[in-house]
Amino acid sequence: MSYRAEYIWIDGTEPTALIRSKTRILADDETTFPIWGFDGSSTNQAPGDNSDCVLRPVYDCPDPIRGGKDRLVLCDVLLPETMEPHPSNQRATCVEVHEKYKDQEPIFGIEQEYTFFHQGRPLGWPIEGYPAPQGPYYCGVGAIEISGRDVVEAHTTACMEAGLAISGTNAEVMLGQWEFQIGPVDTVRVADEIWLARYLLYRIAEDFGIDASVAAKPVKGDWNGAGAHTNFSTKAMRENYDAIIAACEALGAPGKPEEHLAGYGVGIEERLTGAHETQRYDQYSYGVSDRGASVRIPWQVAKDGKGYIEDRRPNANIDPYVVTRLMTNTVCEALSGKF
Ligand code: ADP
Ligand code: MN
Ligand code: MN
Ligand code: MN
Repeated sequence: MSYRAEYIWIDGTEPTALIRSKTRILADDETTFPIWGFDGSSTNQAPGDNSDCVLRPVYDCPDPIRGGKDRLVLCDVLLPETMEPHPSNQRATCVEVHEKYKDQEPIFGIEQEYTFFHQGRPLGWPIEGYPAPQGPYYCGVGAIEISGRDVVEAHTTACMEAGLAISGTNAEVMLGQWEFQIGPVDTVRVADEIWLARYLLYRIAEDFGIDASVAAKPVKGDWNGAGAHTNFSTKAMRENYDAIIAACEALGAPGKPEEHLAGYGVGIEERLTGAHETQRYDQYSYGVSDRGASVRIPWQVAKDGKGYIEDRRPNANIDPYVVTRLMTNTVCEALSGKF
């Protein structure tokens, strides 16, 4: 029997790109996914009088929603005339940096935080006013502390069935806010899988009539923002504490904090205030166990004298290709030839 491939791509919406997808029916004996196209004038990727954009399949996995032979097919977007990457395509440069430094074996674990919304407010929030202040919600249990767990469970199962490297989930500090982690896998793969896991999240939440948002500061005031802490190591860092410190120093070198923050998600100044377990956006610091630092060295890493670092700055609304490209480039360039 024929089967379905859901072609998924990242659009050109600014300042935060959206996911788009459409379905292609393939014949039973079609085992490679053909190049396809779409109307870029409807996705902020092309003018109406020259609207065609190209979809190039780059990664595929089982479609856990449809099951059977059906697949999810992640694509990047190319220009039809030249088959070069479209300006909105951040994956292509991420692949270049990955190729350049793959000898250092960089790997990433990204903690994707997000917030469920229903009827214009975070899921579980009262129609008027606010829920009880933050405190009991993080990793909470019980109907007062938790909302949306049925969606989270369905999403986690789907990620596992798709074969994604999902490594955990937890309820977050604000009611209605959650997190899943993908990794540790390489510079490109972690970003591919974050996008696919986001697709599955939006798509599954849709069936519950709920919207999942990666907004970085979904509620103003004394409520936690949503981040995408990015855990990172190279082979040298997994063997040597000096390499851990060198990585932290490289991220703080002159010009680097500004370069990184520009790619760490829109509205980063609103989230990195110095409160709610963040460092201010205009200061750079690193420290062991310090959740008020820009970059945290986990206590176990300090104890073992090797491991990984956590860049706490990226927003939930990042394009992960940009963040893993920046971190791989900055740290691997600095560590090159030294360890
Ligand atoms: P936190 O304590 O900050 O909430 P989490 O448990 O949510 O931490 O996330 C830690 C992430 O770090 C996971 O995604 C995990 O895969 C990743 N990780 C673990 N070891 C490494 C490593 N050596 N290099 C990169 N990432 C790693
Ligand atoms: Mn976490
Ligand atoms: Mn978290
Ligand atoms: Mn974290």
